[in-house]
Amino acid sequence: MSEKSTAERYDVVVVGAGAAGLNAALVLGRARRRVAVVDAGEPRNAPAAHLQGFLSRDGMPPAALLAVGRAEVTRYGVDLIDGRVEDAGPTELGFVVHLAGGPVLHARRLVVATGLRDGLPELPGLAERWGRDVLHCPYCHGWEVRDRPLGVLGTAPGAVGQALLLRQWSADVVLLAHTLAPTDTERERLAARGVRVVEGRIVRLVADDGRLRGVELDNGQVVTRDAVFVVPQPMPRDALLFGLDCARDDNGWVTTDRTGRTSVPGVWAVGNVADPRAQVVSAAGMGAAAAFALNHDLLDEEIGRAVGLSRASGPALPV
Ligand SMILES: Cc1cc2nc3c(=O)[nH]c(=O)nc-3n(C[C@H](O)[C@H](O)[C@H](O)COP(=O)(O)OP(=O)(O)OC[C@H]3O[C@@H](n4cnc5c(N)ncnc54)[C@H](O)[C@@H]3O)c2cc1C
Repeated sequence: MSEKSTAERYDVVVVGAGAAGLNAALVLGRARRRVAVVDAGEPRNAPAAHLQGFLSRDGMPPAALLAVGRAEVTRYGVDLIDGRVEDAGPTELGFVVHLAGGPVLHARRLVVATGLRDGLPELPGLAERWGRDVLHCPYCHGWEVRDRPLGVLGTAPGAVGQALLLRQWSADVVLLAHTLAPTDTERERLAARGVRVVEGRIVRLVADDGRLRGVELDNGQVVTRDAVFVVPQPMPRDALLFGLDCARDDNGWVTTDRTGRTSVPGVWAVGNVADPRAQVVSAAGMGAAAAFALNHDLLDEEIGRAVGLSRASGPALPV
């Protein structure tokens, strides 16, 4: 059979079932749109035990939030498809979406909610502790490690700002300089804030009994810490967007309006793929905002088509 006859047809295909994609699907499903959500099952915060800072959901395991979201969208007839979208391209009526392994979907509109990957510094012992006691976001994890001995790894220029901020949660914050050379002004600010700078290259992170013990330096010293913070490199999963020729900003990120609408008609980008600062609650909000705008876009198209048909069929007959 041809691709056209086997493909499922939807008003909207949402790629990614994190908070952003699921909230878009929820609003669209409730608006009686035919929606599919395709998800590869790798949400960014999966390594964390709890998600914080989301009103009414504070402390919930990340997977539990997504399970509730998935149950909610299916109530409104949204199709959830486990799989990976490999590419998407334009068609006369919208878009064709190719999934790994062969399935094909057709959609009038696309929501790309594929999130980002955190590029972590390559230090022995670090990756396996990510999201547990190797952390990145004081707003997500600061409360849980408050008043404890904390370290900030000097692997990226943002580490100085992170250390200054983190001091708000603990009086014992050390900046492990590693490859960073703070300026005199930065050192003055760190000292004034009570943040110690420890010079020396980091060799590895040391753990005992499944918990971080500290950070080993190249002089053999182990700086004992309960948790360390890093500044990861945000790497948006944006191949679909740029495969469709969406415009980028000067930093290489997709450009959107306030609803997530990209430069390509019919394509929206929401959540971390469009904004690395989006937290779970704001990613969900971006999904909802996109769904409202997208529904009106579909509505305009439908009204335009109906007006065209009614003009073509001539004036209505008196009843
Ligand atoms: C360790 C850690 C802890 C965090 N803690 C918190 C916290 O406490 N509070 C908070 O608010 N935020 C927290 N965050 C941030 C939070 O993870 C993000 O704000 C949130 O995940 C963004 O949601 P999203 O829907 O944009 O992306 P994601 O949740 O990452 O979801 C994107 C989904 O798209 C899927 N996908 C990607 N590409 C494809 C494809 N081609 N085809 C199909 N599916 C695809 C992925 O598999 C994934 O399931 C934390 C982040 C990390 C790393």
